[in-house]
Amino acid sequence: MKEIVCKLLVIGAGPGGYICAIRAGQLGVDTVIVEAVKAGGTCLNIGCIPSKALIHAAEEFEKLNHMAGAKSPLGISVEAPKLDLAKTIAWKDGIVGRLNSGVLGLLRKARVKIVHGRAKFRDGKTVEVETETGMQVIRAETIVIATGSEPVELPFLPFGGPVISSTEALSLKTVPQKLVVVGGGYIGLELGTAFAKLGSKVTVVEATSQILPQYDAELVKPVAKRLTDLGIRVLTGAKAKGLSGNTLLIETAEGAEEQLAADKILVTVGRKPRTEGWGLDELDLDRAGKFLRIDDRCRTSMRGIHAIGDITGEPMLAHRAMAQGEMVAEIVAGKKRSWDKRCIPAVCFTDPEIVTAGLSPDEARAQGYEVRVGLFPFNANGRAMTMLSEEGFVRIVARADSNLVLGIQAVGSGVSELSSAFALAIEMGARLQDIAATIHAHPTRSEGFQEAALKALGHALHI
Ligand SMILES: Cc1cc2nc3c(=O)[nH]c(=O)nc-3n(C[C@H](O)[C@H](O)[C@H](O)COP(=O)(O)OP(=O)(O)OC[C@H]3O[C@@H](n4cnc5c(N)ncnc54)[C@H](O)[C@@H]3O)c2cc1C
Repeated sequence: MKEIVCKLLVIGAGPGGYICAIRAGQLGVDTVIVEAVKAGGTCLNIGCIPSKALIHAAEEFEKLNHMAGAKSPLGISVEAPKLDLAKTIAWKDGIVGRLNSGVLGLLRKARVKIVHGRAKFRDGKTVEVETETGMQVIRAETIVIATGSEPVELPFLPFGGPVISSTEALSLKTVPQKLVVVGGGYIGLELGTAFAKLGSKVTVVEATSQILPQYDAELVKPVAKRLTDLGIRVLTGAKAKGLSGNTLLIETAEGAEEQLAADKILVTVGRKPRTEGWGLDELDLDRAGKFLRIDDRCRTSMRGIHAIGDITGEPMLAHRAMAQGEMVAEIVAGKKRSWDKRCIPAVCFTDPEIVTAGLSPDEARAQGYEVRVGLFPFNANGRAMTMLSEEGFVRIVARADSNLVLGIQAVGSGVSELSSAFALAIEMGARLQDIAATIHAHPTRSEGFQEAALKALGHALHI
């Protein structure tokens, strides 16, 4: 049995864990990282990156199909395009492979020791890892738990056969003719939309009264319209009940039973923290619901053990995990840091995309603020017109008394790239006047951001 003693041990090399290890290494902290599967975690291997690759391929295919149907006002026509999904998936795997080696390279460059295998706690300072070359014991002064999350399985729809999770959906070699998506959250809709564009007949079954239930109705409306235009059947208020062969049984909003035949049933009803099967129960760390409870320095209830990323709760997003990882590395290196972020932007890569940062109008009012709201529609934006995508808007929420910006949201084609401007404005404590007085390049969609601020101030120029 081999033994390593180190200052910092990071368990899990997803975006939280690998960033934490790299930053700690850069700061000269003697660091070890253990990864059970592949560096990059969910995000890089089976989440953010592969899903965005598939979404991009689907968008390109749909554009060509649109032009082949002689529907394009651009004057372009093409022959009907063909798709080889196996090649698309191989291209996606190539990107994942490149990023995967990149992460390993960065860890090595920061002089982090990488151990491959599943870590199991012996006690609060020691883990054991079953590696290919035998048992490895690692003792560390500080341990960071970054083991992430996994898809929730419905007991009456266990994964296997036609029932798949997002992981399998991202590696299909042929396009399912009929795809039923159970769960209309962002993962289900991103993948459902992509498969509809690739040629599947898609039905979405969502238990609540609205798809994307975490977003307000105004933001969701353009997405719902596009789903309909793509021929996707959306059943809200409908519950999956069970499976009979390849047929999903559901109860509709009206209480009727319906059978949905499907080649694949994609279950995307949420993700749960990966807390089981590796000795975590022995430590009896405090929980916040299913998640590990942490404080503003990502400390758990046990001294010397931090937790970051999806295992610590919502929002389960890669950039939150990374920001926590960077902060914890600096704390371990002796710097004074605590979680003081004003917002965590979130993007939904649906068609059109949704981006949110800070508070929505309703959330701001619920927190007791009197607000000013400015909304600028993309159908009054020149760039949006030239790109044939005028759906959507930018919306800004500010305190009525001081004009301090509390939240910014947008829905529209390509608005994910506005997320950094939105987050920066909130992080720096911008007021409406700051955004209105900033020159925004013309013609860009970002002008909608400036115009929304002007609208909230009562003197929009282009509407
Ligand atoms: C389809 C899909 C699309 C997504 N799209 C986005 C997006 O566009 N933007 C976004 O911000 N987020 C997205 N997410 C969410 C994002 O992937 C997660 O928030 C992020 O990966 C969380 O990072 P993490 O470091 O906490 O955990 P993970 O990425 O889950 O990494 C945890 C790692 O720990 C390893 N591990 C677990 N247990 C052990 C153990 N005992 N020993 C050793 N290693 C262990 C795992 O193998 C894994 O590699 C998406 C997720 C999915 C599923």
